[in-house]
Order: sequence, then C-alpha cells, then structure tokens
Amino acid sequence: MDCIFCKILNGEIPSLKVYEDEYTMVFMDIAKDVDGHMVAIPKKHIKNILDCDVDTLSHLMSTVKKVANYCVDKCGYEGVNLLNASDESAGQSVPHFHIHIITRRRNDNVDA
Ligand code: ADP
Repeated sequence: MDCIFCKILNGEIPSLKVYEDEYTMVFMDIAKDVDGHMVAIPKKHIKNILDCDVDTLSHLMSTVKKVANYCVDKCGYEGVNLLNASDESAGQSVPHFHIHIITRRRNDNVDA
C-alpha cells in the first residue's frame, strides 16, 4: 500500500515515535511548524473519520487523550488543539486517518 503513514507504521519511513499500543501510534509531525505538533493515527488503514468504525475511533481518541494529558500533566503545557481534515475538500493531504495534536501554552503565539 502506497501510504506514507502505513510506511511509518511498518518502519519503512523513520519517525519520532511518541506513543504506540496495539491499535494506535503517535509521532511527531514532520512539519516542525510549532513546538509539539504530533499526529495520532490508527494502525488500521482507514482514510478518514467518514470511513472510520466506532471501535477504531474510540481507540484513537483514547490515545489522543492519553498523550494530551501527559503533555499537560508532565511536560509543562497548558492545553492542546486537536485538528482533523477528513477528505481532500477539507484539506486532507495524507489519506490515512489522523488527528493533529498541537500542544499549547498561554501567549505562545501559535496560530492553530
Ligand atoms: P495538511 O498537509 O494540510 O496538514 P493533513 O491534515 O492531511 O493535511 O496533514 C498531514 C500531515 O502529515 C501534515 O501536517 C504533514 O506535515 C504530515 N506528514 C507528512 N509526511 C510526514 C512524515 N513522513 N512524518 C511525519 N509527518 C508527516
């Protein structure tokens, strides 16, 4: 399958892994546009939320919450933005379902 995120999952493309379990993985976004920009993905190849079964969505959101809470509780951040683009019409450029997690602090000047 010619999917960048599937290649990251099987180790063909390197990534900076933040978290992994049986169903999901979180790694640093390559964009390096803001401090602490991560993407959380299901291991199952699903294009976006429109195609996603509820169990996979539940695993993914549970992972997002775990990582967000860790960033706030242990790493000194105060909040997070969660972003998702589902379909090219909405700006989705990588066709493997992902939630962007962007860590935030008050007055950090991030435009998310
Ligand atoms: P957009 O590209 O408009 O942000 P998406 O919501 O589909 O649309 O986001 C895809 C994200 O995947 C981008 O933030 C991009 O930087 C990131 N990305 C692409 N390739 C890699 C990679 N090899 N490792 C980590 N992140 C990647």
